Amino acid sequence: MTVQSIKEVDKFALQNSLKNLETAYKNFFTDLKKSKNKKGVGLPKFKKKNGCKKSYKTNLTNRNIQVIENRLKLPKLGWIKFHKSQDISGQIVNVTVTRTSSGKYIASINCETEIEKYPQATQNIGLDLGIKSYLVTSTGEAVDNPKYYRTQTRKLRKAHKKLSRSQKGSSNRVKAKNKLARNYERITNLRDDFLHKLSTRLIKENSIICIEDLRVANMVKNHKLALSISDASWSKFVTMLEYKALWHDRIVQKVNTFYPSSQTCNHCGFINPLVKDLKLREWFCPNCNNYNLRDKNAALNILSEGLRILSAAVGAPDAIYACGEFVSPDLFRQKSLKQESRDF
Ligand SMILES: [Zn+2]
Repeated sequence: MTVQSIKEVDKFALQNSLKNLETAYKNFFTDLKKSKNKKGVGLPKFKKKNGCKKSYKTNLTNRNIQVIENRLKLPKLGWIKFHKSQDISGQIVNVTVTRTSSGKYIASINCETEIEKYPQATQNIGLDLGIKSYLVTSTGEAVDNPKYYRTQTRKLRKAHKKLSRSQKGSSNRVKAKNKLARNYERITNLRDDFLHKLSTRLIKENSIICIEDLRVANMVKNHKLALSISDASWSKFVTMLEYKALWHDRIVQKVNTFYPSSQTCNHCGFINPLVKDLKLREWFCPNCNNYNLRDKNAALNILSEGLRILSAAVGAPDAIYACGEFVSPDLFRQKSLKQESRDF
């Protein structure tokens, strides 16, 4: 790169790339020390022309980044018109400009701001994640699985066909490629919108949320279910729940997958091996004769198991969680704070 061309580029773009490289090397070496596993975080790879995320990050200094109405000011580029998805509140820290595979440019503006917390909630909830219903709560509510990928398969297939039939290097091929990329982007956007709305509502309404700790990577190995499972994006959903819980003082507790949440009767604790059969949607407990709906029963068990783990971690008396009733997260927080101060 000549001196002239280096001046044409935003200096932060270069600095941030070097910072990213440093992080990549640090991750590589700490992983090497920790696990001695060759399949862990690998060495940083060079950027390729195709198949890599195309983006750069720039930082704020001396009002070099500004937003006024629908215009954004970036260093070296000056004022650019843009479509704003939401109002900007707080102090801008940095901006990442990304080119999506369909050729759109997206500016993610990172701001420092105080989060307005939701008022305290009094309900605790257990979630049973599934494919037929996206999730069933311990209160008995079932949220439909929108299956966005499945509903768009025809469109996708058409777009794929068009792309494969177009001549290499032709302008029609570029068009077909963009169209396909736009289709995939639409699916992602629809799914993200659904996940955001659902996770926000659950965080707003509940104080402690207990979920199964799913090992999605293992589950995808089952080819019949792989597509439905990746379409559901459970990990993304759980990540959203976790960071939103941090923002609004809620607790997300994961429960081990090996806990028999479906087979245990939530009323008496009897384990019914017959429920292993996935077709059995409802059953009477042979021990206490309680009527159990499969998914709701599982969600109730996840809730009580989650509360048990939480109580055990902070040493709360058994009586608090025994009935699966409301347990104040403040109690947990106070206790865990005390414990932390003891540890240090
Ligand atoms: Zn029972």
